[in-house]
Formats: sequence, structure tokens, C-alpha cells
Amino acid sequence: MAEECMYCQAEDERRLRLMTKITKLKVSALYFYREQSYPGRCVLVYRDHVRKLTDLTPEAYTAFFTDVAKAAQALTDLYHPDKINYLVLGDLCPHLHIHLVPKYQGGTDWGEIFQMMPEPQRYLDEAEEKEEIRKICKKLEEINGF
Ligand SMILES: [Zn+2]
Repeated sequence: MAEECMYCQAEDERRLRLMTKITKLKVSALYFYREQSYPGRCVLVYRDHVRKLTDLTPEAYTAFFTDVAKAAQALTDLYHPDKINYLVLGDLCPHLHIHLVPKYQGGTDWGEIFQMMPEPQRYLDEAEEKEEIRKICKKLEEINGF
């Protein structure tokens, strides 16, 4: 837990502007990224304030990537992306998290690296976002074997 960290504070305004919590997974929490130029874009955040992948024990690493795989499976089942970009950056927020960015042939930045905040930006309205989050939660519950 770090006082300055947007993932460690329950009501951090920076985080609330950027994303909405979907649910907890085994060792992480999944957030719906509000800017949706890449439909289904999410961020998966490790439960503890850990800076780097190499700070995890082998067991924690395995559990974290099991959560990554489960989230990716849910996004694949719901959004049918042609691929997913997985990014671990941590330059601005030093709390271990992974951007899950679905990419679509013919869609935003297909064949290129995704942009953190593409232009023009695309936001869902509140009801649409709620519905996407409900669908992702339901799909995560349906996925077994993780
Ligand atoms: Zn943190």
C-alpha cells in the first residue's frame, strides 16, 4: 500500500477518471478502461503494491498470469478481437498492472502499437459501460478451469 498510488487508494480521482472496477480475480482486480477506442480494453492490477514482475514469488507470478489468461479469455469470448496487446509499463504508476488492449483488423492502430490515449477518444455512456461490465463479470463467472 502506497499513499501516492492510484491503485492503492479506494477512491482515487485519477483512477476513477480513467477506469471503472469490474471485479476481483484471484490475485488482482480487473478494471474497464473508460476510453474505448479499442473495444474491451481493460487494466489488470495486482492486489498488492508491488513494483515489478520480478518482485513476485514464482507462485504469485503464476497466479497473476492465470488471472491475465482468464481476463483475456473473457475478452476474447465477448469481443472476438483479432489479437490482444499486453503491456506492462509502470513508468507513471509504479504498481504492477497490465494493459489488456484488444485489437481488431481494420480497427484503431491495427498493425501498430496502441496509444495510451488515442484521438479521437471514444467513451461509452454510463448505461453502456455498465452493460459491458455486467457482461464481462458474467463471462468471468462462466469460465472454468482457472
Ligand atoms: Zn499501489
